[in-house]
Amino acid sequence: MKSHPLFEKLRIFAPGPTPVPESVLAQMSLPPLHHRTEEFGRILDRTRKNLSWLFQTDQRAYVLACSGTGAMEATIVNLCAAGDEVVVINGGKFGERWTKLAQRYGLKVHELKFDWGEAADPAQVVAALKQNPNVRAVLMQASETSTGAYHPVEQIAKAVHETSDALVCVDAITALGVSPLPMDKWGLDVVISGSQKAFMLPPGLAFMSLSERANQARKRTSIPNFYFSLAEEDKVFDKAQTAWTPAVSLIVGLDMVLARMREAGLEAIFNHHARLAEGTRHGVTAMGLSLLAKKSPSASVTSVLLPAGMTNGDKIISHLRDRYGMTVADGQDHYKGKMFRIAHLGYYDELDMLTVLSAVELTLDKLGIPVKLGQGVGAAARYFRESENQV
Ligand SMILES: *Cc1c(COP(=O)(O)O)cnc(C)c1O
Repeated sequence: MKSHPLFEKLRIFAPGPTPVPESVLAQMSLPPLHHRTEEFGRILDRTRKNLSWLFQTDQRAYVLACSGTGAMEATIVNLCAAGDEVVVINGGKFGERWTKLAQRYGLKVHELKFDWGEAADPAQVVAALKQNPNVRAVLMQASETSTGAYHPVEQIAKAVHETSDALVCVDAITALGVSPLPMDKWGLDVVISGSQKAFMLPPGLAFMSLSERANQARKRTSIPNFYFSLAEEDKVFDKAQTAWTPAVSLIVGLDMVLARMREAGLEAIFNHHARLAEGTRHGVTAMGLSLLAKKSPSASVTSVLLPAGMTNGDKIISHLRDRYGMTVADGQDHYKGKMFRIAHLGYYDELDMLTVLSAVELTLDKLGIPVKLGQGVGAAARYFRESENQV
């Protein structure tokens, strides 16, 4: 059985693109502004300042017209030269992307692999830096979206700075606006993010900010670049312009979302995500399912392993989609068909999490996997109720 199209709803619980609030969609549907107008300049200027607030930095925040990977590429091409040595923390698909990108540009990569679901170990990063004293940058994720693990960014940044001059470059694409990541305070040299995750916007924008040290490094080396040239961006930054045509409609939406984030405050935003994540974990474990990232789970996405012996996880995912119009993410690579991932970053609330947990229970039951309806939902609801006054 399937809902009649009359009643069907699109329910996205994948870690990007995430749902967009109706009011933001409405605002973005207005005719695009011209990007060289004063009106747009004011919007761009305000969004950049609000981004710096969210990054918790005194530095510039750049808004690029690309998906998150574009900001990863911008990091490499603005800060490195061919032949440079870098350390990559690879704990999943996105760590692997740093490696591929760096290698494509002729960098020498020292890769530190961590098991999927495990957080990176700062001691191993230190050891790699001691062994390779010429390393110029450490490339890492904060939240490794493919596994649901959260790396200890603060400890790693501290350890790197104590050991070497390497720049700490953090892909915070599913961490910024979710968990505390004070860029200046922690000494993060590059932080990047993207619109379709915690920013509750469609894909198409990436954000990045660089420390003073990273800006110095830009002068020393750069791989030939054009579209992602931060030097080009800097030429017009103070005129409240971008080097190329900005994604004006998305920036209008960004302006709205950032204004609301500022109104809510960082602490409320971080607490909200922490609660949704914890409630979701309560729910899935109460159903008898287990988590891939147990020790250091991300507040943006929960990776759920399928019941032992069940190999066809695709069935859960396709049933959620076909029966309930609900999208959860599959596992990737060797976890394909062995787990699914539930996002809770951006425009979600407690009731959304109860909905996805309920759909998972109904699906397990339908597929003949033993579960008591209400078991997971009840556990999550109780957690939400009990934690409500603590924050
Ligand atoms: C989504 C994501 C990216 C960027 O992917 P795009 O498809 O280019 O937006 C990079 N890193 C992480 C950790 C992500 O979650």
